[in-house]
Amino acid sequence: MQSSFDCYIGIGSNLHQPMQQIIAALDLLQTLPHTSLIKSSHLYQNPAMLAEENATPQPDYINAVAWIQTTLEPELLLKHLQTLETQQGRQRTEKIWSSRTLDLDVLLYGDLKIDSPSLTIPHKGLLERAFVLIPLCDCNPDLILPNGKVVKDFISDDMKQQLTRI
Ligand code: AMP
Repeated sequence: MQSSFDCYIGIGSNLHQPMQQIIAALDLLQTLPHTSLIKSSHLYQNPAMLAEENATPQPDYINAVAWIQTTLEPELLLKHLQTLETQQGRQRTEKIWSSRTLDLDVLLYGDLKIDSPSLTIPHKGLLERAFVLIPLCDCNPDLILPNGKVVKDFISDDMKQQLTRI
C-alpha cells in the first residue's frame, strides 16, 4: 500500500465571487482520487499583492488553507490542482500576481523538499505571507515550519493585523 502524506494547500481567489470559489475549491479537493480533506481554515480577506510590473489595483483576495492527506505523488497532485483551477474558469496570463478566479498552491508535502522547474516545495512565499501562515495555523497550530519553528509561535501581531477574518 502506498504511503499517505500530509499536505497543505493554499487557496486564493479575487475574481468571480471569491468566497464561493473558495467554498467550491474545498468541495472539489474532496473529489480528488486517493485524497481526503482533514481540516480547512477560516476564510480571510486581504489586499492583493502587486508586482512592480503589474501595479494596477486589484480586488481583495479571499484566502484559506486546506489540510489534506493524499497518496498522489507531488507532480500528479499539482496536475489535479491545475485541472481544478481550469475547471473553475481560471485563465492563465504571463503576468505575475495577476487577478485569478482560483489559485491552488502546494504549500507543504510532508517533509519533502522539491525544487524542479514546475514545483517548489515548500512553497516559496510560505514564511513571509500572513494569508498563508494564519490559515495554516488554523488547520494545525503545532505544525513545524521549514524554518524549524512551530507555526503558532511564528505568527506576529503585525501579521494578524494584515488580514480580516470573514
Ligand atoms: P501560480 O501563478 O501561483 O498558479 O503559479 C504558476 C506556476 O507555479 C505553475 O505553473 C506551477 O508549475 C508553479 N509552481 C511551483 N511551485 C508550486 C507549488 N508549490 N504549488 C503550485 N504551483 C507551483
